Amino acid sequence: MSENNTAKRGGISVEMEHIFPVIKKWLYSEKEIFLREIVSNACDACTKLGRLVSLGETSNVDTSKFRIDVILDKSAKTITVSDNGIGMTEEELQKYLCQIALSGALDFIDKYEGESEGAGAGIIGHFGLGFYSSFMVSDTVEVITRSHDLSPAVKWVCGTDGDYEITAADPDDDDTPARGTTVIMHISGEGEEYLNEYKLREIIDKYCAFMPVEIYFIDADKEDSDEEEKSVNDTEPLWLKPSSECGDEEYADFYRKVFHDFKEPLFHIHLRADYPLNFKGILYFPRITNEYESLEGQVKLYYNQVFVADNIKEVIPEYLLMLKGVLDCPELPLNVSRSYLQNSGYVSKISAHITKKVADKLVSMFNTDREGYEKIWRDVKTFVEYASLRDQKFYDRVKSAILLEKCSGGFVTLDEYLETAKEKHEGKIYYANDKTAQASYISMFSDEGIETVLFDRLIDTNFITFVEHNNDALKFVRVDAEVAGSVNDEDSSEPEGVADLFGEIVAEGTKISFEKLRSESIPAVLNVSEESRRMEDMMRMYSGGADMPKMPVDATLVINTSSSLIANLAGKIKTDPDTAKVLAKHIYSLCLLSQRKLTADELTEFLSDSYNVLGKL
Ligand code: ADP
Repeated sequence: MSENNTAKRGGISVEMEHIFPVIKKWLYSEKEIFLREIVSNACDACTKLGRLVSLGETSNVDTSKFRIDVILDKSAKTITVSDNGIGMTEEELQKYLCQIALSGALDFIDKYEGESEGAGAGIIGHFGLGFYSSFMVSDTVEVITRSHDLSPAVKWVCGTDGDYEITAADPDDDDTPARGTTVIMHISGEGEEYLNEYKLREIIDKYCAFMPVEIYFIDADKEDSDEEEKSVNDTEPLWLKPSSECGDEEYADFYRKVFHDFKEPLFHIHLRADYPLNFKGILYFPRITNEYESLEGQVKLYYNQVFVADNIKEVIPEYLLMLKGVLDCPELPLNVSRSYLQNSGYVSKISAHITKKVADKLVSMFNTDREGYEKIWRDVKTFVEYASLRDQKFYDRVKSAILLEKCSGGFVTLDEYLETAKEKHEGKIYYANDKTAQASYISMFSDEGIETVLFDRLIDTNFITFVEHNNDALKFVRVDAEVAGSVNDEDSSEPEGVADLFGEIVAEGTKISFEKLRSESIPAVLNVSEESRRMEDMMRMYSGGADMPKMPVDATLVINTSSSLIANLAGKIKTDPDTAKVLAKHIYSLCLLSQRKLTADELTEFLSDSYNVLGKL
């Protein structure tokens, strides 16, 4: 500082002209992060001074009194952030704000210049542009700072043209800190929306809720209010504590507070990875009410207690985004591009670590409290299946704890099912995907002592194919793909004329066969081969439920030779061919009905045939 206190002026750099328009254009949608950047600088300033104190390099500082004030002054159109941290000398101010911060901002812009505006915009705002982001909302920024070494306070004023001025700060001015830094942002037209108490509180709550230094919000218009002063943040968030010191109620409170979700989560996992990964967090399994909702989780990413963003796909494995939770990753290389993050070894190690912890937690719950685990299985099932499909390692770890839901009630593991299946249907798992529609098949199987399991969600089709790929000796067969209870009897001779009669009725390509089934009450069963049905299901999924092209289906109508109805029908073929035909048609329609939904035309025809049949009684 010159003795006679003349102002020092400077143009920050020629690039300045370049930088402001770019900052404004790119960060347009993420403007609010200016406050996070300025407040987190203030936090860093306190942390740095705290470190000097603990190293014994400075004394006379009460580290318990560190604080940050965010002051809104609507009439002056300013937002001020002040801290009592380390502060800056004039030289430091020159170096840090006019050189380092600026070159940081330029580097930042260089890195993202290549990214298209749309793609870049999302991620840019998440990461640190730093001090200069204040210019997104200000036309002038003042910095008044006094170093902890108590050299004279200095004041820096800069406009969006990049011209700045450094002068000695007036020690009597209220804005001049005794120690630390005050940043006064003179809000421009573009930042007008931030001159609002609720807006500012919302932003502070979003980004600063867990910053490590106490933050106070002051509305200058309400300064006289006698409200008790209370910091707006929690400086010691739960994830930093060792899990042994956190009670269930604390986890539940934290969940409610952070996610505003009043449904109790199913369970949580406290993550703590030591060096070199060095991250902490808490993941919660939300209570899922339906299959689609489950995809809408919220994993909040923090960088040293500073909120970065929700659900960053570049950092968190996609399937974990179904969960809710917080992850604090201080080692995350944030000032890098999106593609770097995606390919970064660090990121994949984080994913691997989390995956392992989640799988281990599930397996341990299964092992220690099977009953409790069965109660939540329906809620975690979609997650487990999805995660398995996405990540083979997850499946390998969790597979012993995957449950199958029995149509008769209760659950079994794959191994338990296969063990019981050994005698009658080794390696085959019978399943239904609609308990009501497939009830007749299910009961046919259960009459034979064969358990049917339920796979009734969209993702199940993919999941069972995946499990088959992983287990050569295993096959999933839908109950309507095979008959149960057929008696291997040479005597199952085919009644005369029946095959021809049904041949005229069934859909093109449907085969007809005869078997003697143990149950006499079922005249016929329609079986559709597992492969062709899965193919059809896939087509339906991809066509998004639109009209499906008719495709040949490998179906067989199995006629039960022990059925009295079939015997009756066979007797009528010669004596009363019309009635025989009506009956055969009706039997076929009933078979179709228990295999799939009838089309509108089929249903109309079925109803009119039904009346016809009733008329013959
Ligand atoms: P970063 O925080 O990533 O280093 P910034 O552009 O935000 O980048 O800030 C540049 C530098 O300016 C900081 O590293 C710090 O040295 C200095 N600085 C900014 N704000 C403050 C503050 N409130 N107190 C002390 N120094 C600060």
